[in-house]
This record gives sequence, C-alpha cells and structure tokens, in this order.
Amino acid sequence: MRFGAHVSSSGGISKAIGRGQEIGCESLQVFTHNPRTWRPIQHKDEEIEAFRRLAAEADMGPLVSHGLYLINLGAPDREVPTGPPGKPATKTRNIHRASVESLIQHLEIGERLGLSGVVLHVGSSKGSTESEAISRIGAGISQAFEAAPGECAVFLENTAGAGDTIGRSFDQLRRVFDEVGHPSRLGYCLDTQHLFASGYPVHEPDGIDRVLDEFDRTVGIERLRCLHLNDSMTAFGSNRDRHENLGDGQIGADGFRRILGAPALQDLPVILEVPGLEGNGPDLENMARARRFHEEGLELRGA
Ligand SMILES: [Zn+2]
Ligand SMILES: [Zn+2]
Repeated sequence: MRFGAHVSSSGGISKAIGRGQEIGCESLQVFTHNPRTWRPIQHKDEEIEAFRRLAAEADMGPLVSHGLYLINLGAPDREVPTGPPGKPATKTRNIHRASVESLIQHLEIGERLGLSGVVLHVGSSKGSTESEAISRIGAGISQAFEAAPGECAVFLENTAGAGDTIGRSFDQLRRVFDEVGHPSRLGYCLDTQHLFASGYPVHEPDGIDRVLDEFDRTVGIERLRCLHLNDSMTAFGSNRDRHENLGDGQIGADGFRRILGAPALQDLPVILEVPGLEGNGPDLENMARARRFHEEGLELRGA
C-alpha cells in the first residue's frame, strides 16, 4: 500500500508535494481546479515542471486528482437556469456539456502533471431515469477520452448513495463501464466511508472480503486503482457522506484493521480525506493510524 492524502494545491500546484511530504505521504491526491468554479486554473509550465520534479525526487506516487464537484455527467444535455446559490437564476448553463468540457481539462492537466488518474463522482440523474443518466455518463467519458488522448485515466468513485446519485452500487458502476467506448482508461476508486454509508458491510469480520468479491464479480478487481480511506461520522447504511478521522468513527479501529489487511487492496494507493484532529484535513496522526491499522491488519491475517 502507498499511503497518501488529499492535500491543498493553493499557491501553486507544486506546493502540494511538500505538503504531502510533511505528513508522510507516499502517494497524493490534489485538486487541479478551483473547487468552486467551472473556470479552469491556468497552470504555468514552471509549476507543472516543479510538480513533476518534486514528486520524482520525493518518490511520490501514484498521483491522482479529484474532479471538480460541479461536474455531473448525468445531468440532462440541455440548458437550465443557473445562478449563485440561494439567489434567482441569472443565466442558463448546460451542465452536461460543461461537465464534459471540464473532464477534458482535468485529463489534459492530469497528463501534463503525470497523474495516473482523475477521481470522479459518477453523477446524478437530475430528474431523468437512471438508465438515461448512465448512458449520458458513459458517452461523456468516451468523448473526454477522445478529446484528451493520453495515459491519464478516469477513476469512478462509489458514492454514499444520497438522493439520485449514481454509483452507490457495484451494479451501477458496472453499467457505466459498459457504456464507455474506451474502457482501458477507466478504473475505479472505492471510498470506505461511502461503501459503509451505502450499506456494504466493510466493518464486519470477513465483510471487506465479501464486498471485494462482489466488486470482482460485478466490475473486476483489476479495475480497482485507488482506495479512499475515511472513517464514517454517520451510521451504516445512512447514505450520508460524512468523513471522520480514522478509528474515531463508526467503522472504527477494528474495521480498518480488517479493511487494510485485505489481500486484494495491498497494491493500491490509499488516500486519506479525513477532517484531521485540528480540522485542517489529513495530518500526521491520521497517517500514523493508517499505517498502524495496516500492520495490525496484516498480523491478524497472519500475513
Ligand atoms: Zn472519497
Ligand atoms: Zn466522501
């Protein structure tokens, strides 16, 4: 396992590497976009070069980005009124088209930075049927792969299952895969909090093994490329996306020992997106807990 975290890239994307080193990261997740706006950041060539050089010097990888939360490839392909949150609509936007454009930008910048993939929330159906949304999502990802050729992949992330979000079940994740024309660049990222919240019993004895068996049968374990390691503030099956520090939530220390001992997960980058003890995001303490639970988990299994 390559333990890492989501770290801030404010002040220049190359600064993320040092922030990761400070908390002991071997892999890393960053935003390549400002999370509040569709408008892409114009990363300078010097920043890109510095990011790649510092990552190589630190032997940090795999490196991934997390897609803009505004992206929803499942949204209907038409103009809808839009405006600042809580205010009357001031203009219209085609969310589906904007999402495809943004995914293309994410793949292009990911390629320049040498990222292995862009972690992407699958999307939500926004009033249309699940099947229609899944077709649009698959078509949108295909278009983005065509427009942005290269190695950088898309890692679809499972969701906690709130509202009409797609990706709460392995069956839905599989159906998206079947809609994408170039599936060689499509992988998956499983989030432990989202699995737990959507009713996959990863915390139970043998739970993670059964869940991963089901993932293997439905999607294919070889397509699992990244793990998001988060404890859960909310109950099993709550469908709520609320991360907690490792061992302090409802998955708990024993749950993480079981999860991190799972043989099928040993070659993955493991990215923390926890609130942190001081509320500043992933920290040294959570990174230490992850590594400790991992060692103890391997011992439990006699590995
Ligand atoms: Zn996540
Ligand atoms: Zn989450």
